[in-house]
Amino acid sequence: MRAWVDGAVRDSVLVEIADGRFTSVTPDSEVDAFHRVPGETRILPGLTLPGLANCHSHAFHRALRGRTQRERGTFWTWRDHMYAVAATLTPDSYFELARATYREMAATGITSVGEFHYLHHQPDGTPYDDPNAMGHALVAAAAEAGIRISLLDTCYLSSGFGRPVEGAQVRYTDGDADRWAERVDAIDHAYVGAAIHSVRAVPREQIRTVVEATGTRPLHVHLSEQVAENDACLATYGVTPTQLLHDAGALGPTTSAVHATHLTGADITQLGETTTYACFCPTTERDLGDGIGPGRALQRAGARLTLGSDSHAVVDLFEEMRALEMDERLATKERGHWSAAELLDIGTSGRIAVGERADLVTIDTASPRTAGTGADEHTAVYAATAADVVHVVAGGQVAYTGADDEAIGRELADAIEKVHP
Ligand SMILES: [Zn+2]
Repeated sequence: MRAWVDGAVRDSVLVEIADGRFTSVTPDSEVDAFHRVPGETRILPGLTLPGLANCHSHAFHRALRGRTQRERGTFWTWRDHMYAVAATLTPDSYFELARATYREMAATGITSVGEFHYLHHQPDGTPYDDPNAMGHALVAAAAEAGIRISLLDTCYLSSGFGRPVEGAQVRYTDGDADRWAERVDAIDHAYVGAAIHSVRAVPREQIRTVVEATGTRPLHVHLSEQVAENDACLATYGVTPTQLLHDAGALGPTTSAVHATHLTGADITQLGETTTYACFCPTTERDLGDGIGPGRALQRAGARLTLGSDSHAVVDLFEEMRALEMDERLATKERGHWSAAELLDIGTSGRIAVGERADLVTIDTASPRTAGTGADEHTAVYAATAADVVHVVAGGQVAYTGADDEAIGRELADAIEKVHP
């Protein structure tokens, strides 16, 4: 196969896979294929990339696509619509919706997802018999779709600075950060991380509790997505959300700041110096009218960028990679902020290398969109769309073959139909 190996496109690459990992990677080989041991050898035409990493997802938001866009509205009317769907979900209906959503992700080349999960309890706020029934439903859904999930269990305690939860938010809250930590401890899954929904939703004194309970596991937080959040944080605490998180010890190399859109120069320095990840979600930020974050400045300061499809208005990591450059062009009126290789690195989770997880995404390089574009990293970043993905391997197992589209569409339609109030 033609593949992206060690930062370059190589031809006739033979990879061998055992127990979900690459055991050999040989460019310029006699046999041009991937081979599972024990198992079949398969020849993959096109261009093969490492698996794409979707670092920020709220699976149930997939039910809003094409619906919240029907009327004019604001960020807050979008949120009302989202809450209406959140109010109807049960562990069973959420399992079906998430499985269909993760299947769509697999079909677009996403092999791992970070699920920022805050819909924990029954509609009246009472915990389910299994207090992690919803989280376990998400884990089971990803397993059936064949992709890896990091469950980022989210602490959500207030509807705004100093305001108790209201409406559907009673499903999100555990009451306080200690009870949140207790519940998270009982989750049965290897990849459990944590999240602070936002500085709006977790009071300052409880942020530290979440940080301590999280330890060395991944910690995600929505950060400065809207100017209004910054203004309210300044009015309440006299500091920016970034400064607030920094003071609480919440920034660092295992933390991801999601959005990081409206930042001061000092915020950028703090996120950089702590080598915090900045997870940009350009298609969602576009859909919600959030703004354009300072991607290149964050990277220059020392932060590491990742990407997420967040609200799933679009599930297409190729578009997210491309948007990082294109949006920055619009914001600065200059071209050439990122190379295609850098963008590919930001959008993928690992490498095609011995010992790494065997995640392979093959794109058609002869489609109406990709033909004649060079079949290299520029094809992937500047020409391909999710629709050009023809074959996906996640953890050594085939997760998508191109023959599955009709079934995935049907599954999505059925699951979404069931959750609309
Ligand atoms: Zn989000």
